[in-house]
Amino acid sequence: ALASMPTLLLVAYWMGGEIWLTAIAIGCPVILILLRLLSPGAEAAQTIKDSTTGAMLRPGFDVVRDTVFEQTSVGDLKSACFSVEIDDAAELAKRHGHAAMDHILRVTADRMIGALRPSDTVARTGDYRFAVCLEPVRQLDLELGIQISGRLQTVIEEPVFVDGLTIYITCSVGFCLRSRTPGPQANDWLNAADMALREARQNGPSSIRAYSRDMQTRHDVASTLRDDVIKAIERGEIQAWFQPQLSTDTGRVSGFEALARWHHPSRGFVPPDHFLPALADQRRLPLLTAAILRQSCQALSQWDHAGHVVPQVSLNLSEQDLSDPKLCDTILWELDKFDLGADRLCIEVLETVVTHAPSDMVQQNLANLHRLGCTIDLDDYGTGHASIASIKRFPIKRIKIDRSFVMKADQDADQQRLVGALLTMAERLDLETLAEGVETVGEHALLAQLGCDYVQGFGIAKPMPFEETGPWLTSHSSKIARAPRIGRHTG
Ligand code: C2E
Ligand code: CA
Ligand code: CA
Repeated sequence: ALASMPTLLLVAYWMGGEIWLTAIAIGCPVILILLRLLSPGAEAAQTIKDSTTGAMLRPGFDVVRDTVFEQTSVGDLKSACFSVEIDDAAELAKRHGHAAMDHILRVTADRMIGALRPSDTVARTGDYRFAVCLEPVRQLDLELGIQISGRLQTVIEEPVFVDGLTIYITCSVGFCLRSRTPGPQANDWLNAADMALREARQNGPSSIRAYSRDMQTRHDVASTLRDDVIKAIERGEIQAWFQPQLSTDTGRVSGFEALARWHHPSRGFVPPDHFLPALADQRRLPLLTAAILRQSCQALSQWDHAGHVVPQVSLNLSEQDLSDPKLCDTILWELDKFDLGADRLCIEVLETVVTHAPSDMVQQNLANLHRLGCTIDLDDYGTGHASIASIKRFPIKRIKIDRSFVMKADQDADQQRLVGALLTMAERLDLETLAEGVETVGEHALLAQLGCDYVQGFGIAKPMPFEETGPWLTSHSSKIARAPRIGRHTG
């Protein structure tokens, strides 16, 4: 810009005389100075600090990262970028407030800086996220990267004291060695560390992951899955499979749980744990629920017509479903279509949904479903720390004791005591009980003996497509007619 000034002045004088000459002579330097002030250069960017933690911010970090990226592009100097995030920060903020979180952030930044060399760079890159770029060194491999991540994690996870309170935090770390950067840009390097962090968080809390090429492939698969899953529901590729539940008292089928199954045309069987997060992210779980609800009502109606006695189908409803103001209407409409009463549906709600202060809409939907005649089961009971008070606030009829308590309960005295305690508590609270994940005859017998009302699990039958339920129901009826029952204790 400066080099072109004489030409500019000459042209201004020719075209507009002295007035133009004066205007350009004064105006241009002023504009240049203003531009310089508004977009700070590389050195200036590094001096801008985060007001909460005093750490460098993203613009400064980018400058350092670009420089280190260049320095390590040839020769044998090595480096790594780390992305570090405090786990469940939103939850912590809700519990302790923003002032406490600011203190935690300050302490975290100080501890990170203290755990590294003065020449390494630490910056705050998100609400609860920090990035680190190591100064180039001669020796750095995967193992050392993991060691440095572990060191950062150890210092960050030391308890923090705020207003006489001890707060325990955990953090996840993702990192990418310079040599593993997946693209030609310096930006690809930190993005790769962020991708590793995302995977660490999925496996968290308190996880460490190093970026690798198959992480990219997994990420690509997950993104295509995101797009595919909605189309799959619309095309009817996702089916409800049914797993029977038995009464321990009579041995008869008390219902089936409907579980979503996706047979992908090229990828084969995709388990629900893989596609549910893709739907949850897009807040489209209600789309799946509508499909499973329809198929469940159709199944109930077909069992009725075939003369099978199946009192109920259990549906898994997420918090997203329960937050839908149209939920009850959708359910009523589907039941009406097949001429079924609302008592034919049981709604499974995860224990965690009632533990985490559910919204008014969730509470209202649960109350309305109960009023309509649907029954409500508390799923995965024992894993979500629901208090007795919170259970009694909701119209829950039955608790589903999680598989982790049922496993080996007949062989392990501690497990047996735990299950026994859960069953006693349920009895006192006047709640029915269903044990899930019952895999062996031993577990089945023990649960019946301890007074558990219902059982479900591979030991009885695996989830099956609708077409297999008819033959299974027929064979089960003839089996209970023949065999001596596993009795329930009555005492
Ligand atoms: P969940 O509701 O706890 O379902 C029980 C899971 O345990 C099912 O896995 C079932 O196949 C499996 N299971 C049953 N008996 C046994 C056993 O004896 N041993 C073992 N090891 N596993 C057993 P699945 O079908 O893979 O479902 C996983 C989770 O996905 C479910 O856990 C549920 O939370 C969710 N899910 C499945 N279908 C739906 C759906 O339609 N809507 C929603 N919102 N969630 C669903
Ligand atoms: Ca369930
Ligand atoms: Ca469960």
